[in-house]
Amino acid sequence: MNLTTSRGLLADRARQVAEIAARHVHDVDARARFPREAVDALRSNGLLAAAVPSALGGENATLHDLSEVARILAESCSATGMIFVMHQIQVLCLTRHTHGSTTVIRTLRRLVMDGTLMASATTEAGIGGSTRTSGCAIDEQPNGTIVLRKTAPVISYGAFADVILTTARASLESAPSDQVLVICPRATTRLTQLGEWDTLGFRGTCSPGFQLEATVDREHIVPDDFATISAETMLPVSHLLWATVWLGISDAAAAKAATAVQRSARKSIGTLPPAATRLAELLGKVAAFGGLVESSTRAFDDDADDRAALTSIPRAIAHNSLKITASDSVIDIVGQAMLVAGIAGYRQDSDLSLGRLLRDSYGTAVMVNNDRILANNAQLSLLQRRKARR
Ligand SMILES: Cc1cc2nc3c(=O)[nH]c(=O)nc-3n(C[C@H](O)[C@H](O)[C@H](O)COP(=O)(O)OP(=O)(O)OC[C@H]3O[C@@H](n4cnc5c(N)ncnc54)[C@H](O)[C@@H]3O)c2cc1C
Repeated sequence: MNLTTSRGLLADRARQVAEIAARHVHDVDARARFPREAVDALRSNGLLAAAVPSALGGENATLHDLSEVARILAESCSATGMIFVMHQIQVLCLTRHTHGSTTVIRTLRRLVMDGTLMASATTEAGIGGSTRTSGCAIDEQPNGTIVLRKTAPVISYGAFADVILTTARASLESAPSDQVLVICPRATTRLTQLGEWDTLGFRGTCSPGFQLEATVDREHIVPDDFATISAETMLPVSHLLWATVWLGISDAAAAKAATAVQRSARKSIGTLPPAATRLAELLGKVAAFGGLVESSTRAFDDDADDRAALTSIPRAIAHNSLKITASDSVIDIVGQAMLVAGIAGYRQDSDLSLGRLLRDSYGTAVMVNNDRILANNAQLSLLQRRKARR
């Protein structure tokens, strides 16, 4: 990472936050509580606003810059890493689809000044993870405002967010795929929590369901339609940044495995511990995973303004495949780290415990289900073959 600003290197600031996150990670996981200390630190050192254009007071951070911050955070606390990237996905949906909208610009300026935390409500009750489908709709009122009611089964850190970007049909008459993205500020959005968030992993993301009711003016609709926002930004950026967080989880597991092997090497100086070979294999997998994430994020930055290239069928397939590969990789790597660390990794009370990382790693497969993404890729591949034959 080479982005140096008046606030210093992004990576140095990320490491400061990671230290704070590491101090609280066990409590965050055990109590499924919001990592307040780490998010406050992200806010106070400006990392939440890093991707905002400098013209609006931000630091112009690229996707690659953000991914390096996310990797550092996730190595300390998966939930903090996930919250950071989920927020940045929303920020990029605004910075890349502004089209001069005064509401979008005001929202971004407020992020720079106050560290607004942005969440997302795309998933909907009865629809599941099909983000390109909405049941709820924009309801135009005679006084010119719009009302949006959505039953959202999962909104990460919904209770702690200042703004929730919410998908809905463009009007009461619109088809399920004719969607818009609405900026719902907390001040004019009523949230009623539906149940608890008591999951295996990513417990600190605090992602229960909510009944959401927002009343805003039409200016709060992001200018591009959601089909465009999804294809050009939300989908590729989500898959790239999620993969980075999962890489950070892999780093954490590999570090514990390496410590286990070093300890056993110290006990029998001069002999190679049997687990050292598995560790070598494991480190190779992490390096390959890291290389994939590095090249994929750089490729996005290279074509950030070439929207046709970013939304081409081969690129869409590549972004989807990255999500599945990253999810499979982190599950495999944490599992292999368990083999290397042995009983010390299996124990809950050991400094080498891999329990939390193992639980977190499985969340990656259901966070937009891998099977759903594979089915999307199957359709895209058929479309590509048909186009090639023409
Ligand atoms: C930690 C975490 C945080 C999250 N945060 C948010 C958030 O902030 N905002 C938000 O909106 N959502 C969030 N989600 C929701 C997430 O992104 C998924 O969209 C949601 O969990 C999907 O729910 P589901 O598994 O019930 O539904 P589905 O994706 O519908 O899957 C249900 C089942 O149907 C199968 N299936 C469905 N469709 C297909 C298909 N086309 N082909 C093959 N199989 C299919 C799947 O394999 C699966 O077995 C979060 C999820 C997690 C794990």
